[in-house]
Amino acid sequence: MKLNYNSLHKSCITFTKIINIHIFLGCLLIFNLFILTGCNPKKEEKLIENEKIRVVTTIGMITDIVRNVGGDKLEVIGMMGPGVDPHLYKPTLKDIERLKSASIIFYNGLHLESKMGDKLEQLSGNTKVVAVSENIPTNQLLKSPEFKGQYDPHIWFDINLWIKAVETVHDTLVDYNSESKATFGENTENYISKLRVLHEYVIKQSERVPPQQRVLVTAHDAFNYFGNAYGFEVRGLQGMSTVSEAGIADVKELASYIAEHKIPAIFVESSVPVRSLEAVKAAVISKGFNVEIGGELFSDAMGNEGTPEGTYIGMVRHNIDTIISALLGESIEIDSYKKEQ
Ligand SMILES: [Zn+2]
Repeated sequence: MKLNYNSLHKSCITFTKIINIHIFLGCLLIFNLFILTGCNPKKEEKLIENEKIRVVTTIGMITDIVRNVGGDKLEVIGMMGPGVDPHLYKPTLKDIERLKSASIIFYNGLHLESKMGDKLEQLSGNTKVVAVSENIPTNQLLKSPEFKGQYDPHIWFDINLWIKAVETVHDTLVDYNSESKATFGENTENYISKLRVLHEYVIKQSERVPPQQRVLVTAHDAFNYFGNAYGFEVRGLQGMSTVSEAGIADVKELASYIAEHKIPAIFVESSVPVRSLEAVKAAVISKGFNVEIGGELFSDAMGNEGTPEGTYIGMVRHNIDTIISALLGESIEIDSYKKEQ
């Protein structure tokens, strides 16, 4: 039932004039109860229906933030699971239903979800639609070499930038449901303190590799923020987006670079097909140098739920451990990466 303050109030006045004071008092009681709930009718309706605030997110790394900050106050639905490439992802009919039923939608922005822009724009009239990247100052963003005038969307690889995304989620949730302000605040503080520890861990691990050997070659250009924050030179076979596949010229050029710089290991990514990097490895071998596939990194999607890599923190730890072990030749598990499905 929709309770409307104005119509309720008007009807109360009419009744008192025509009938008697008892009905007026009854109305006044309902009116007072309504005021005591202290919420605006639209928000209250959504909360009563679901008991929890329904939030829909795009990539797993954002789902992880929202789950950590919101705790049990929210029902969180993540659209993109393990192995899903957000550059190419188009919402399914089920996703569209979920998006329509959400109170809040969080997405990365900076054109990461490039096939979803129109849908999100349409929904922004009725639902709170928030890009977690929106409060990062542009001077802290890296420019996209591929798309003029745009920024690199892979901000989660610089943990300090990702902390700003956490703060944006926190502020949005507090704005939506101020009653849970204390819970959201405490959850955010806990999560950010874990992220600061993670940041220090990545720095410590990176420092094990001499600066001139810190070269990271991956399937696509997702790791520029990582390189920038932790002192790695980064080369991706494909561009920043995976929309167009790498060509033969890209494979040759990268193979020459690897052979010339004697780079010991290159890395596949969970959300990009393996075949392109296997072509690079073959091309390097044809130049008389051997390069190992150093393992699988999680770039634009996290690992399976229930595994350590199924969380943002676990994913970042997995990536840095894999990179450092392979570059130092410590425990390279050759060809242990997941084969293309
Ligand atoms: Zn990407």
